[in-house]
Amino acid sequence: MQDLQPKASHYIDGAYHEDTGGNPIPVIYPATGAEIARLHAATDAVIDRALAAASAAQPAWAALTGTMRGRILRRAADILRDRNHEMSVLETHDTGKPLSETLVADATSAADALEYFGGLAGSLTGEHIPLADGDFVYTRREALGVVLGIGAWNYPTQIAAWKAAPALACGNTMVMKPSETTPLCTLKLAEILTEAGAPPGVFNVVQGYGAQAAKLLDDPRVAKVSLTGSVPTGRKVYAAAAAQLKHATMELGGKSPLVIFDDADLDNAVSAAINANFYSTGQICSNGTRVFVQKGLRKKFLKSLARRMKDAVIGDPLDEATTIGPMVSQRQLDIVLDYIEQGKVEGATLVAGGARLDRPGFWIAPALFADVTDDMAIAREEIFGPVMSVLEFTTEEEAIRRANATEFGLAAGVFTSDLVRGHRIAAAFQAGTTYINAYNLTPVEAPFGGSKASGVGRENSRAAIAHYSQVKSVYVSLNKTEAPF
Ligand code: NDP
Repeated sequence: MQDLQPKASHYIDGAYHEDTGGNPIPVIYPATGAEIARLHAATDAVIDRALAAASAAQPAWAALTGTMRGRILRRAADILRDRNHEMSVLETHDTGKPLSETLVADATSAADALEYFGGLAGSLTGEHIPLADGDFVYTRREALGVVLGIGAWNYPTQIAAWKAAPALACGNTMVMKPSETTPLCTLKLAEILTEAGAPPGVFNVVQGYGAQAAKLLDDPRVAKVSLTGSVPTGRKVYAAAAAQLKHATMELGGKSPLVIFDDADLDNAVSAAINANFYSTGQICSNGTRVFVQKGLRKKFLKSLARRMKDAVIGDPLDEATTIGPMVSQRQLDIVLDYIEQGKVEGATLVAGGARLDRPGFWIAPALFADVTDDMAIAREEIFGPVMSVLEFTTEEEAIRRANATEFGLAAGVFTSDLVRGHRIAAAFQAGTTYINAYNLTPVEAPFGGSKASGVGRENSRAAIAHYSQVKSVYVSLNKTEAPF
């Protein structure tokens, strides 16, 4: 196997930086369970160094024109695309996701974000607001300062870039703390940004656990936090940000509904349910894990799905023919196996899969449950693994009510050939990202994010700009100031 040990654990001020005083972070290849690298969590000195570098670099970075910043981001996008294969192999080692996915969904998605926000950077302007007697206000769109990114482990390259691209475009600098489960890819992104011309300190990577992230967030030099993680972590991070009135973006978990009507194109709906539950071995925040199927289609749907699940290729993630990789960690595998047991105990019918595979690494056969009811744990809680729950419904009113009966509100999808109904249901869904006859597509041009407990703020698209910048009003008077005395 190639040597995946990075030059050092952290990337600060344009260079790798090591301090072995921090707790070790073993990096495990999920497909084998073998240790492939060893890093160290940040010490207090590392945290201070990263924040000092980001703070020092921020004014000069913000003082560049948007076009100049954008040029660097777009150059980074080009380098990422040139190195897509190498980046994808690394992403596969970090996460276990098969190369057939990482080649098309990770570095490429990061490149899209850098290209899109790089292109937008030059046109981030304020506005002119005319007032009485020639007075006017103009607004300046200004950076927030140092942005702290905290990442989940499922899409390390994409998560870092989705945060860094709008943050840097707006003139902020960044300290990114990847998940300790997948710490490798973000370091490469930092290298590439330096190579593309980002000045030292503009994008820094600090490794660590939750404790290190909390310490970074507590520092007054951080103006904003952008977290991708679970709802429980989101509650803690949002509360810590609120204590100092810091800006916050929260991209959190979900238990999203996918509603399939009798009149849906069956093959299309089955494909969507597969993507919405088994892509990335089910480790996707916006997955449509509650699949509501209308009574008339249910039997055919289950039959077709069970047949197609037999075609899944579960195997070496580095073989491009593989379509299902392992779970990211033993911990995540255990969580998923527990839920599968609960599903059986609560009376759901396990139609296919669900067993741990007898091989090294963290492998499981994707599970399909039928006869699931709304009160079961597998229908209420985010599992974050390849477990699909199929629920039956009769009327449209019932489907909407049950789809919305959750604390989460990340995504939702509907499959129907009645487009009027499709739009009606998309409007009724309580979710930030919704789909009609599609699922889990996240183009950079469209806002992405959650409602209810699934999050605050939006990533991607122009909407992200509002979350990585602030508006200053400048009142200009052409008249004499009147005073009462
Ligand atoms: P976690 O919430 O466990 O962790 C997320 C990040 O927060 C990690 O880097 C973690 O560090 C850090 N963290 C943990 N505790 C604290 C704390 N007290 N203060 C600051 N930071 C802390 O999520 P997972 O990594 O397990 O990722 C899975 C979750 O992420 C799922 O719920 C999934 O839905 C969600 N997610 C949401 C997405 C979205 O865009 N809405 C996209 C992808 C995933 P450490 O790892 O060391 O604990």
